[in-house]
Amino acid sequence: MRIESDFLRCPVCKGSLNEMEDGWRCASCGIDYPLCEGFPDLVPPSISDLKKSERSHYTDLIDFYLRGHEMWKGSPFYNHVHNEFLDDLRRLPAGSLILEVGCGLGSDGLKLLRSGYRLVETEIAPGSLREARRLHHDDGFGDSCAHLLADAENLPFAENTFDGALIVATLHHMPEPVCCLREIRRVLKPGGIFVIGTELNSWQFRTIFPVGKRFIQLVYRILGKGSYKAETVSEADDLTEGFSAKDLQAMFEAAGFSRLELKPAGYLAALVYFLAVLISGYIGRDLRLFPLESAALKVDALLERIKILAPYPWHWNALAYA
Ligand SMILES: [Zn+2]
Repeated sequence: MRIESDFLRCPVCKGSLNEMEDGWRCASCGIDYPLCEGFPDLVPPSISDLKKSERSHYTDLIDFYLRGHEMWKGSPFYNHVHNEFLDDLRRLPAGSLILEVGCGLGSDGLKLLRSGYRLVETEIAPGSLREARRLHHDDGFGDSCAHLLADAENLPFAENTFDGALIVATLHHMPEPVCCLREIRRVLKPGGIFVIGTELNSWQFRTIFPVGKRFIQLVYRILGKGSYKAETVSEADDLTEGFSAKDLQAMFEAAGFSRLELKPAGYLAALVYFLAVLISGYIGRDLRLFPLESAALKVDALLERIKILAPYPWHWNALAYA
């Protein structure tokens, strides 16, 4: 899909962009945005060290994430949770224009393209965006999608551009998540659908995660392996403390969204899934517990009805309107 200058804006000053031979130039502030590996690179020239670190992490470790995705894509839990938030976007008529912020390897985007939507994928990491573009083009969707490098807190689009937007497991990578939500609301048309997928809840960061980290450190010391350092955890993943329901409600309100609907994304099935991913990482081969996950999903359907458990899913999906 061709990217029209009309719907692009300078991510820094929101001025119009003029298309040049090798990129774009802001008509207001004069900043040049070059092409990077054939992608419009509309990331502001000066971004924080954390964003630079995320940009290189999700480029340098791309093979690790591709291997992980090979394992996850067959997971009943993964597919169940992802289909739930994608179905919220599927309320939009076919042909609607959807923005994905932080598209990663592009697997959710592919499902939306297969459902007949037009899609704009953004990423801060060229390595991830390259894989997303390959996935979509290999499946024959080159004409209905576009891929851009962008900073989620400074989106390079005109206001009222998109019918829908999604952000999956990405909000906790932002230094200022409310900025990102405001930007998404700005570029959505009034009444546009916004979906959050699998965003981390906060309770586990105050309870089992610190205990688990200490336990792993202890095992490493006993085994004489020295101090454990997870090379495959990005800096933002290491810093995050997740979001409680209250956190998300306050953030969405501050960003001007209406009618936020939070949905639990995994209790027991999530636990089975994450233990499998964690243990697979340690033993160096894939431990697929898919039948157990399917059984746990049936238990989750019951757990979701228990009021006292409502604040404690592992993740949140959410639906809101601009
Ligand atoms: Zn500008």
